[in-house]
Amino acid sequence: MKKHYVEDAWSIIEEGFHPEMQRSSESIFSLGNGHMGQRANFEEKYTGTTLQGNYVAGVYYPDKTRVGWWKNGYPEYFAKVLNAANWIGIDIEIDGKALDLAKARILHFRRELDMKGGVLSRNFGVEFEKGKQLEIKVLRFLSIVEKEAGLIKYSLTPIGFEPEIMVRAYIDGDVQNQDANYEEKFWQEVAKGSTANGSFVSLKTKKLDFEVTTAQRLKIDLDGRAQSLRGRQVERNKFVSNQYDFTVAAGRELTIYKYAVNVSSLHVASENQEAEANRLLDGLTNKGFDTLMAEHSAAWQERWKMNDIVIHGDVAAQQAIRFNIYQLNQTYSGEDARLNIGPKGFTGEKYGGGTYWDTEAYCLPFYLLTAGSEVAKNLLRYRYRQLDKAIDNARKLGFSDGAALYPMVTMNGEECHNEWEITFEEIHRNGAIAFAIYNFIRHTSDYSYLYEGGLEVLLAIARFWKQRVNWSKDKQAYVMLGVTGPNEYENNVNNNWYTNYIARWTLQYTAECIATVQSDAKFWSEFKAKTNFDLEELTAWSDIVEKIYQPKLAGTLLYLQQDGFLDKEDQTVADLDPSHRPINQKWSWDRILRSVFIKQADVLQGMYFFEDHFDIETIRENFLYYESRTVHESSLSPCVHSVLACKLDMEEKAYEMYLRTSRLDLDDYNHEADEGLHITSMAGTWMAVIEGFGGKRIRDGVLSFDPMIPKHWDSYSFNLVYRGSVISITVNTNEVTVENKSSESVKLKLYSTAHEISGSSTLSINR
Ligand code: BGC
Repeated sequence: MKKHYVEDAWSIIEEGFHPEMQRSSESIFSLGNGHMGQRANFEEKYTGTTLQGNYVAGVYYPDKTRVGWWKNGYPEYFAKVLNAANWIGIDIEIDGKALDLAKARILHFRRELDMKGGVLSRNFGVEFEKGKQLEIKVLRFLSIVEKEAGLIKYSLTPIGFEPEIMVRAYIDGDVQNQDANYEEKFWQEVAKGSTANGSFVSLKTKKLDFEVTTAQRLKIDLDGRAQSLRGRQVERNKFVSNQYDFTVAAGRELTIYKYAVNVSSLHVASENQEAEANRLLDGLTNKGFDTLMAEHSAAWQERWKMNDIVIHGDVAAQQAIRFNIYQLNQTYSGEDARLNIGPKGFTGEKYGGGTYWDTEAYCLPFYLLTAGSEVAKNLLRYRYRQLDKAIDNARKLGFSDGAALYPMVTMNGEECHNEWEITFEEIHRNGAIAFAIYNFIRHTSDYSYLYEGGLEVLLAIARFWKQRVNWSKDKQAYVMLGVTGPNEYENNVNNNWYTNYIARWTLQYTAECIATVQSDAKFWSEFKAKTNFDLEELTAWSDIVEKIYQPKLAGTLLYLQQDGFLDKEDQTVADLDPSHRPINQKWSWDRILRSVFIKQADVLQGMYFFEDHFDIETIRENFLYYESRTVHESSLSPCVHSVLACKLDMEEKAYEMYLRTSRLDLDDYNHEADEGLHITSMAGTWMAVIEGFGGKRIRDGVLSFDPMIPKHWDSYSFNLVYRGSVISITVNTNEVTVENKSSESVKLKLYSTAHEISGSSTLSINR
């Protein structure tokens, strides 16, 4: 575990230049605004190790599949979030020599991500020859007010000499995905052009015809005085630049303002993009950098009013939770049901930027309770929009009659994962999509999504489970063979307890929802006609619900992760030599598969979702058994363990798991921050505070809290948007205070006692 960044309540700070950490830091200091995002690459040339990344939401490429052994049913392509045009580029030459931190003599270096205001800054000094220094200050942000806009202020001050400074501000679309299967470049040029103070390039994907116009406008000041820009425009394939020369006297400051926009065909038709880019740039330059930054920072502060979790007494925990919340907000803003949340957001290429079950299982509650139900509903709608493709996907695998298998990874509803043990077998993902519908409804009491398509989604998933089980004569039970559970360190197992459980639950819940909607005669008859549904189908479902096999160790409360789990050589994580961890980087796959070690919450994922179905002793026995065998090599794991540990009053374990989930990337627990951040698990971090320490639950339609406080903290507080009301909870060592910030009264339970808190009032109780 590395402690690389300075602990600070509102900022992530790196002191000193650490080229060996550059790729990780590029992930950590990433910026995004829901519309686009980027890794924290340097503006100026950098010949050291780097992973360049600029991404535009919803723009992807269907890269032709590459596998060793083709299997029927594999998708033709793996969708990839596209590395888009690099718009931040500003090459600097000082007296003819390129400024390049990989080669320069660096006198000092500091960068800071100010999460309160959403701005990345970098200050550094370099020495060219004795007595000839250059001080550089850079500010950069992606506006959350003007969603297409990215802004840079880049200032240089020579000390002890009067250099010729060449500035080349460029947009480079000749970029490549590092994970391209055939080292192909995915963009082709459509148009480009430049003027004295700006340039643009329009690029189109070689397949699917996504088009993005990236444009820049420059303004350059010397000691605060605008310079008239007469430079050169250098263009080449997919590349445009504006180049200027200045002589800058010692101690004077040359400041380059770069205004850039990305206009994508998701929002603007190709033929209008150049004009739209110009219109946006006119607006941005009229406002000016300082105003844009002030507006952007004010909008962030407005967001924080709703999102922030304040922790007193523990800066590491405070910084971490804000970092997680900040990144979640940078990734998804929820206005557009075509978009979703990739496991790495805009911070790297891994996982192709596609949508996983992570969204439903982990992210939905965060957006639902901080951004409101419309944002969360867009995440649900995303899956309804893709239902036809999920039905096609199941059909390709041999299912029929409207059964749907949602993809493990997708951009547009088509499966694009191509490892058989995941593509065909990790089918529990279907269950999470059903669970999210239930989770949304139990929080909001809003059933409208069922009528808008949600019931069709549930039905299609239920039909899949019905067809996926088979009757075992031997066991006299329904079984589910050949699956991979959430724990991907087991493949092709029979009767994964979690998958069987969620399949059974989906059948039950869908039947309940069907009973609910039948009173709406018009909807009901249209639904039946559209889905070809007959109530007869319920008979088979209830038989499965009653007789599905749930592996359990006789005479104990322990559910078994799958058939044969106890045949493994029993060990616990405490027996593992620390130098063997993470096992996925140190052991062969064969050794991992045969070992007892668990990648991520599996049985415990089920106990987390369906906590109310189990008594506390059952949860305890399963937790103690599985936690001691779990290596948490999926980022999605520690948060679930943290929530359950709180429920079991295991404060130290809960805190350990909280730090692990919340500081996963900052302290790089899994040695992979260089590939990008674990965005989806960041929502799990939020859950660990709200549901873990805060003990938030929805029970029988009532919001309830059983707060505890880790001994490392003096107090913590958070806000939730619940059924239109905003409530704020503060927990300290002595009391719990609930402030109802809305005008309507709110009913809730605190430690099982019911309270009604009238509008704009506060309730405090002793703990
Ligand atoms: C986990 C999956 C998860 C995926 C994307 C994998 O490592 O095992 O559960 O969906 O990462 O986050």
